[in-house]
Amino acid sequence: MAIANVSWQHFREELLAWYRPERRPMPWKEETDPYRIWLSEIILQQTRVEQGWPYFERFVTAYPTVTVLAAAEDDAVMKLWEGLGYYSRARNLLKAARTVADEHGGKFPATYAGLLDLPGIGPYTAAAVASFAFGRQVAVLDGNVFRILARYAGDATPTTTEPGRKHFQQLAERALGEVPAARFNQAIMDFGALVCTPKQADCARCPVASGCQALAQDRVYDLPVKGKKTTVRPRYFHYLVVSDARDRYLLEQRPAGDIWQSLYQFPLVETDSVDTSLEQLIQHTDWPATLDPTRLRQLRRSGVYRHQLSHQTIGAVFHVLASHGLLAPAAPPDSPMVVPRDEFDRYALPRIITRFLEDTTLTLGF
Ligand code: SF4
Repeated sequence: MAIANVSWQHFREELLAWYRPERRPMPWKEETDPYRIWLSEIILQQTRVEQGWPYFERFVTAYPTVTVLAAAEDDAVMKLWEGLGYYSRARNLLKAARTVADEHGGKFPATYAGLLDLPGIGPYTAAAVASFAFGRQVAVLDGNVFRILARYAGDATPTTTEPGRKHFQQLAERALGEVPAARFNQAIMDFGALVCTPKQADCARCPVASGCQALAQDRVYDLPVKGKKTTVRPRYFHYLVVSDARDRYLLEQRPAGDIWQSLYQFPLVETDSVDTSLEQLIQHTDWPATLDPTRLRQLRRSGVYRHQLSHQTIGAVFHVLASHGLLAPAAPPDSPMVVPRDEFDRYALPRIITRFLEDTTLTLGF
């Protein structure tokens, strides 16, 4: 629990005195346009700033306003999102843009509660947009803020439970007090990125060190306390990279209800081992009914490509196969489709597949 003698007034005063916007320049810094703030926040969820920055710039160039984004084709948005991962964010991005365009006349709701109602907007993004764009008195709470508050207050309440989240939201509001929320929120985010960092906190130069309980108790790296670790499930994807003499390949769209929904991929057989042989794949229930194994020649088998998601580790193997006859598309919507190699750019592919393509020259030499 929080220690009684924590001074939040000291915390907020020292934090604001330390804050300089130019210390951490970003294209959305000091921004007041709710569309650009919202867009940057959605892009930056679970994404490093260096990775997200070019995506933000591409999106605002292609879709300068929320109404332009709302009118975009789904596939075009997914394509622009390609490589960022967590594709449900892109789908929610479109849903939220269309809700703003259709139900709010193209203007974002100006309250925390109204913003929270939009698809894909959680408490953090709602607080960021409400405070930065509309000057609402609400404190942001993300991994940085959990860490700073837990350390400053010497508070070991687990952060990953719902009661823990509520407890820290109250602490964040107490820390904010009556100072302008936009400036405070920006300051605490910069402070978490530059000073009170997860593994190398700069306590020697920290402006709030004199009131920091974790420093006084030598518990800086014991805090914050997270709840139980989530288990990570291993999955093994065997992609069938089938092509014909016209350099055309089979591609299919991923189904709903699983990772990478709506993205495109080579036909996939999922097994319980990375070592599954082609003969075993042919016997598997996932083997495409329209693919006759007697007309295929195995050219090579890739190494294992790994991809870490929050709850799953994917191990992917690419089986490169040549078809003796020309490929014929199956009836939609179950496809696979037949796509020339030089048209792959039109399809949003999971990062694990683009990595394979970058490593490979898919010229089969008929
Ligand atoms: S003294 Fe260290 S642990 Fe405490 S708030 Fe400052 S940087 Fe973080």
